[in-house]
Formats: sequence, structure tokens, C-alpha cells
Amino acid sequence: MTKYLTSNCDHFKSDDIGFASNAIINDGVVIFPTETVYGIGADALSDNACKKIFKIKERPMDNPLIVHASSTREIEKIASIKDVVNFEALSKLWPGPLTIILPSLGVISSSATAGQDTVAIRIPDCNLALELIRMSGVPIAAPSANLSTRPSITDSAYLKKNFDGKVDVIFDAGKTRYGIESTVILPKGDSCLILRPGIYTEDDFKGIFTKVTFSENLVDSPRSPGTKYRHYSPSKKLYMPSSVEELIKIEKKWPGKYAIICSSETGKKIGGKNLLLLGSRNDPYEIASKLYDSLIKFDMSPYEEGLIEPLSGSGIYLSIMNRIKKAAISIQEGEL
Ligand code: AMP
Ligand code: MG
Repeated sequence: MTKYLTSNCDHFKSDDIGFASNAIINDGVVIFPTETVYGIGADALSDNACKKIFKIKERPMDNPLIVHASSTREIEKIASIKDVVNFEALSKLWPGPLTIILPSLGVISSSATAGQDTVAIRIPDCNLALELIRMSGVPIAAPSANLSTRPSITDSAYLKKNFDGKVDVIFDAGKTRYGIESTVILPKGDSCLILRPGIYTEDDFKGIFTKVTFSENLVDSPRSPGTKYRHYSPSKKLYMPSSVEELIKIEKKWPGKYAIICSSETGKKIGGKNLLLLGSRNDPYEIASKLYDSLIKFDMSPYEEGLIEPLSGSGIYLSIMNRIKKAAISIQEGEL
């Protein structure tokens, strides 16, 4: 049976954390909030516990999990930081939405690392999550709490449907703060490779490393294993037209046929009941926080197919577009 607890990132009861940490210690699985998205977590040192996550999520076993720690001291017990120049400056971005790939010291379960000699680590910026890690006394391996290939979950209202009876504990903690997953980086000497863009952007790393590159820009880069899989997709067909103008043209051709996920500015131009608004183009944080929620709402809507606005731009918009491109089918002018 799944136990539902109402503590959240800012207000939590120690009884709740005690109950959940007990589940972790006993190889159980706990869904908890972080500042990015919900995580489905287990003892990162236990192979048995980590395997349960793969099974519940239907996640391919070769896609490693992010390990959540509560301090850099704890990290030094599981990974080597000695070759990371400016680790101190980098670690100032913690607690926060940053995952660093480091050489593993072999302590973390080989299921969590998918047998690799590296481990992905972060310190989340959510007091509930940090207290859960501390009370459990072990690092917690936790990928996003969604079924594999589906959108990440940013509101606890959607957790029950997929995970009731499958996990030991669900924290019913409402909406998460940022709404997209952490930035994943691979530091190498004085350069840094961004494997997955997120809330921390290129600019945040420029003062720390002399060279910052996106993994897509490199031909033979060591990629995050997760990037080869389909991701974040609704179960219905979602199309991304090549421009806003093209999206408006399609809506004019087929009024009301498609659910439309778009910015409030584009929504104003279109009008109509079929809109799922992401927020203003001037506030990428708001757009990021509503993206997955809109993908899930689209799946639950009566519309059979949808359109999503191509939200290109720099900074956080690169991270938003990274998710949209994986969730949607890109279409050319005149295709619909
Ligand atoms: P999620 O499943 O949403 O938590 O995402 C975890 C991401 O981190 C996936 O894209 C993984 O492939 C990536 N990742 C985890 N461990 C490693 C690692 N050791 N090396 C490279 N990427 C990793
Ligand atoms: Mg995920």
C-alpha cells in the first residue's frame, strides 16, 4: 500500500520524513518533490532498491539514475572531485538544479550507474528532500517520477494515477518550483560540456570554466545515455510547426481541431477554447514551470491531436526548446 504524506519542500513534519526514510532504509521506493520535478527515489547504495525504480518506471536498464546527496562531504565519499578545476565555485550552484557527472568511486549501486564508471550527482534545493537524504543516512538515486518516455511530473495531483500501490510513499506536495529537470554537465579540465540544458544556463558556467560547449555541437561527445531515448512525450500526437505564423495558419485552416499549447501572447492572437497557455514570453521561468503540466493536460483533454508553439530563444529558452523538440513532432510548412 502507498502511504500519502502532505509535507512539502518548505513545510515538513519530521514524522513524515521519519516514515519515508524508514522506507528508504528498508529498500523501499519514495516519490518526493525537488525544486525541479518529482523524483522517484531509493537507496543509491542498494542494487535491489535501485532495480525497483527501473521496473516501476519501465526505464531501460542502460539509462543511469541521478544520485541525490545532501552535502559535498557526502559526495566526496561516492565520487572523485580531484580533477574538477574550480569544484568549489561549481558547488556554489548547490543546492540547486545542477547535476555533475563525476568519476564513481564504486560505492553507488551498479544499477544506479548503469554499470558506468561515472556517477551523476546533485544536491537538490528542497528542504524536504535534503532532510529525507540526511535521515536516511544514504544518498538517494532518483530519476524523474514519470513512466519512461512520458512527461516529467511537476504536480503531485498526477502521481496517483501511475504510481498508486507501486511505491511505498508519495509526498503530496503540490507543484514544484521550476518545472524542468536539472542541467546535466560533464566537467573536463577547464572546459564543461552541457549534456542536458536546464535552469542553469551557459552563462552560469562561463565564469567557472574557460570553455562551455553543448553536447549537440560535438560529433563524438560522450552523451548522456538518456538522450538517445524518446522523452517527455504525451501519448497523443503533438506537432511543432516551424513558426508561430505557421501555427496560426494551421489553426485558421482547421479551427478548433487541435489543442494548442502556446504563450499567452500567441494565445491572444488566436483566442478560442482549445488553448493551453504556458504564460508570457517575457517570463521563461513561468513557461518552464507550466510546460509538463500542459503536456499532461493535453493528454487528458478531449482533443486527439495538438500543436505546440516553437519557443526559440536563448538562455532558459534553449532548455525549454530542448524538451519541446523531444516531446513533439517537428513539421514543415504545409504539412498539416
Ligand atoms: P532523469 O531520468 O530525468 O532523472 O534524467 C537523468 C539524466 O541523467 C539522464 O539523461 C541520464 O542519462 C543522465 N545520466 C545519469 N547518469 C549519467 C552518467 N553517469 N553519465 C552521463 N549521463 C548520466
Ligand atoms: Mg526523466
